[in-house]
Amino acid sequence: MAAHQEKKPSGERSRKSAQNGSRTSQVQWGRAWEVDWFSLASIIFLLMFAPLIVYYFIMSCDQYQCSLVDPLVDLLTGNKHLSDIWNKTPALTYRAAGIYTLWVAFQVVLYVFIPDFCHKFLPGYVGGVQEGAVTPAGVVNKYEINGLQAWIITHVLWFANAYYFHFFSPTIIFDNWIPLLWCANILGYTVSTFAMIKGYFFPTNATDCKFTGNFFYDYMMGIEFNPRIGKWFDFKLFFNGRPGIVAWTLINLSYAAKQQELYGQVTNSMILVNVLQGIYVLDFFWNEAWYLKTIDICHDHFGWYLGWGDCVWLPYLYTLQGLYLVYHPVQLGTANAVGILMLGLIGYYIFRVTNHQKDLFRRTNGNCKIWGKKPEYIECSYMSVDGTKHYSKLMTSGFWGWARHFNYTGDLMGSLAYCLACGFDHILPYFYIVYMTILLTHRCIRDEHRCFSKYGKDWKRYTAAVPYRLLPGIF
Ligand code: NDP
Repeated sequence: MAAHQEKKPSGERSRKSAQNGSRTSQVQWGRAWEVDWFSLASIIFLLMFAPLIVYYFIMSCDQYQCSLVDPLVDLLTGNKHLSDIWNKTPALTYRAAGIYTLWVAFQVVLYVFIPDFCHKFLPGYVGGVQEGAVTPAGVVNKYEINGLQAWIITHVLWFANAYYFHFFSPTIIFDNWIPLLWCANILGYTVSTFAMIKGYFFPTNATDCKFTGNFFYDYMMGIEFNPRIGKWFDFKLFFNGRPGIVAWTLINLSYAAKQQELYGQVTNSMILVNVLQGIYVLDFFWNEAWYLKTIDICHDHFGWYLGWGDCVWLPYLYTLQGLYLVYHPVQLGTANAVGILMLGLIGYYIFRVTNHQKDLFRRTNGNCKIWGKKPEYIECSYMSVDGTKHYSKLMTSGFWGWARHFNYTGDLMGSLAYCLACGFDHILPYFYIVYMTILLTHRCIRDEHRCFSKYGKDWKRYTAAVPYRLLPGIF
């Protein structure tokens, strides 16, 4: 699609970049140039501590009513030993292993065996077989886009069970939350390790592999760009978009059901969190084809960062607000509830419109209207590893003229709204906004580094035209 449109006919391609610096620099725009000491230190830190951070948050809720400080105080004052906390932690159970295996197997079946039918009757929805962006090796992968369908089928079955069949309690996720954490970790580590071995011994596309020579970096950031099994099972699309994100809304529903069970009512803050995060998740699936052009899919390689992150980090830490509200049911005053809803909706609007503007612009190769006018843009070029020269455009109007990543700004506003719904008694629910701010600021810098390597002086012209990253006039 867009990737093809960016390419000029073969006659116009040149084997050497005349405009944009040397070929050597041009083909470096995929992941990882070299591993500097800071990246290595960050990676080793994350490999060691990210699983502990997840455990600490979930344990704090289970044993300390979501206080992040009390466990530390207990440990530092000798009131408790690590072994006391560990011994109180629920172990892996056969029940949790069964639930998790069924869950992942069900999502695999929905992903691999049920071609999309939603695009046949939902106007405006893009599903079915779609193409991804051109990879550094010049490959354009095809994907079966059927995430919305998987989400709908899963949720219809969830509600059918909750209101009609009663095979299991809707609190099942909350009730098995820590045993399920062990299952998610097992899958996360297994898939990351498998991806590393596969990258060495039987890669799907050897030209798109990157070996830095540093074991930790390669394990964390991945070797293969688009590992696949068979023609259609794409690791990145499946793990990024299925077991974790489909579960996100179910996890929140399970928390709401637990509130109902414990207190006889669901608070307005829980409804707000369910609704705002539900919109975000549905948006993801409605726009899954667009997602093929985002950094996760078209720039990141598949390693522990995506494999373990999608299995563990996302479902456990992105849902902390709902978990917190089970332990601390917050009933917001009407003005606060409306204010938070507005913040969440405005954030979502900015996030969606900004992403849509870029998608429309790239899909139509600039032949569209942005805010009623023809978009303004900077022409740019880059080289793929086979020496082919490609052409692209960077938009400088619409929200993309306000800041270079205004989509992140909208995302951050929405994230803040989820946290505010939990009130101010504890810091735990605010982890999300702190994390998202670090993630998106780092991502913005990482992306700009990559774009500079890719587009060279054309990127400099773009940053001169749009000088701010996230907040016009400030940053
Ligand atoms: P973007 O969708 O902003 O994509 C960045 C890419 O877009 C660049 O690498 C470049 O790619 C292209 N681009 C940059 N500037 C322009 C321009 N002016 N005109 C046209 N194309 C341009 O980034 P992400 O993929 O990181 O994010 C997508 C969305 O996902 C965001 O809204 C973000 O908030 C959200 N997100 C959410 C996360 C979460 O955990 N909740 C995590 C990460 C992202 P090219 O090489 O094609 O030129």
